[in-house]
Amino acid sequence: MIPEPRLEHLYQEVILDHNRNPRNFKEIPDATQYSHGVNPLCGDDYHLYLKIDEQGAVRDVGFKGSGCAISKSSASIMTSLIKDKPIQEAERLKENFLQLMTRDNVPEAVKSQVGRMILFEGVKEFPVRVKCATLIWHALADALRDSKLNFEKAPKR
Ligand code: ZN
Repeated sequence: MIPEPRLEHLYQEVILDHNRNPRNFKEIPDATQYSHGVNPLCGDDYHLYLKIDEQGAVRDVGFKGSGCAISKSSASIMTSLIKDKPIQEAERLKENFLQLMTRDNVPEAVKSQVGRMILFEGVKEFPVRVKCATLIWHALADALRDSKLNFEKAPKR
């Protein structure tokens, strides 16, 4: 694994805390959505499970796997942000965070929409690590794409 970059102290603390103590670090046996994300550059490898209810809300979310502190803490914070939220809100968060991490001159309006994920903005100074921070979010995109298909197929109530 690539050594951890030195981020600003405060950010480092939060990231290390989530790394040591990841939230929602579990499999969900009755998940409705699943995705597997791999970042071969760093060795990050995670399974993401979502349980979406009939109202289209994220009833439960969990992830398992291994990787660097940035990838694991990003996954941990992501799961705590989207739990109990409508999938549209999870989608918006994902869009805003990916924009924050992959574009230059990101508008304040976008930055203000990403919650605690703003901590990862400093990771942009280490371009090779951006994939670590965004890995689980791409897995989320993949899992939610699935969910839309399933919802479209589901009979109307
Ligand atoms: Zn990594």
